[in-house]
Amino acid sequence: MTDDTWGQVREELIKRVGKNNYKTWIEPLRLSGLKNGVALFEVPTSFFGDWVSRNFVDQIRGQLSLAGSPVDRVEFTVATGQRPVADPARISAKPAVTREVPRRPLAAHSVPMRPRITGEGDISGAQLEPRFTFESFVVGKPNELAYAAARRVAEGGPVAYNPLFLYGGVGLGKTHLMHAIAHELQQSRPDLHVLYLSAEQFMYRFVQALRDKQIMDFKELFRSVDVLMVDDVQFIAGKDSTQEEFFHTFNALVDQNKQIVISADRAPGEIKDLEERIRSRLQCGLVVDLHPTDYELRLGILQAKVDHYRNQYRGLVMASGVLEFLAHRITTNVRVLEGALMRLFAFASLVGREINLDLVQECLSDILRASDKRVTIEEIQRKVAEHYNVRLADMIGPKRLRTIARPRQVAMYLAKQMTQRSLPEIGRRFGGRDHTTIMHGIRKIEELMVADNQLADDVQLLKRLLQN
Ligand code: ADP
Ligand code: MG
Repeated sequence: MTDDTWGQVREELIKRVGKNNYKTWIEPLRLSGLKNGVALFEVPTSFFGDWVSRNFVDQIRGQLSLAGSPVDRVEFTVATGQRPVADPARISAKPAVTREVPRRPLAAHSVPMRPRITGEGDISGAQLEPRFTFESFVVGKPNELAYAAARRVAEGGPVAYNPLFLYGGVGLGKTHLMHAIAHELQQSRPDLHVLYLSAEQFMYRFVQALRDKQIMDFKELFRSVDVLMVDDVQFIAGKDSTQEEFFHTFNALVDQNKQIVISADRAPGEIKDLEERIRSRLQCGLVVDLHPTDYELRLGILQAKVDHYRNQYRGLVMASGVLEFLAHRITTNVRVLEGALMRLFAFASLVGREINLDLVQECLSDILRASDKRVTIEEIQRKVAEHYNVRLADMIGPKRLRTIARPRQVAMYLAKQMTQRSLPEIGRRFGGRDHTTIMHGIRKIEELMVADNQLADDVQLLKRLLQN
């Protein structure tokens, strides 16, 4: 079958399933294979696949047959290569959760991206998301500092701190704030040359320039911007020549008193394989942390978003308590929270039902289950071992060396804090240690954390990594 045939089949399907259903459920389908009576489609999420297979598969099969491609079975796979460029390197976080958010089904409502105009010179940065403005950013305790710092930079006045380094877990608003700075500057200071791009794009351009022997142009262009924003800078860690070039670009701009804004998923000191001189440079400015969201902030964000959907889907009724329930249960990150709301409305409008807690359970069971997921002691041991560069076996082994015993105690502490396990149970998982040993380990870490900032930071970081 050719793309054309699938095109025709889709035309037919519009008539069969109606325009709305078509837009939401059929258009995002990508036919990736058709062989031996099996049609294979790529879908944005597994929920999406389930929904289509439950509701539209007969029509799809029927139309394919009519078009001369008889099909016995229709299968769906979740497309993996769809990560947006501005959002790279989600290596360690749980991508399964993030990917559950339906990105495509509601594509009709998302505002089209418009290309970034960067003034003279021909480095165009990444596209800016029109939605990511200061106005649409909900401020709460966990993000107020980051917001204030971003606002300050967006005033475009004399450079107050350089760089502004924003960090925090996935989906907490780093990219949103950076785009907001760019939007604001575009309005208020059109004379400034503002460049926003991800660290991945920085590397890509650099490599391209090397290949095309245009490295001088590359340098010149990057050194001519007034405000440079590089998103997800952890990406360049370990990529030596890119780091090097980044370092020089960075220094040249700082020397000219040009503003730099950087984001990363962790603090400069916590990024592994980052050159020491870069790390210390990054720490020179203002380092601000976007904390995990709290209940109030999540509720605030939901309330801000729900108005938008109320307009979109007029006539839908939402029972009270739904937003509170979501804010209470979906604590992972804001992107997941937004995705949940979007899916709820789409689902409710399709089935023509009120949005109440029953519907929430039905429609969001996968997200709710993922949020319920408890951290296991094994995961804690693995992450801690990785962080301190010790072997996993040493976590449970007998060695008493400080360099091993301390991480082990950190893991014990986290096991007590983050799981429901009792001390004897934890002892068993740490190579059959006695519960008093576990107790001692936990106390030790509690004591040390008061005096030892490094250790306290380590524990915080590990907690965050484990919760993500
Ligand atoms: P990060 O870059 O930190 O991974 P993003 O900036 O991409 O996260 O945010 C993820 C999603 O959550 C975006 O759609 C963003 O608009 C939304 N979001 C995050 N924080 C807020 C907030 N405080 N108010 C409104 N929306 C938010
Ligand atoms: Mg981001």
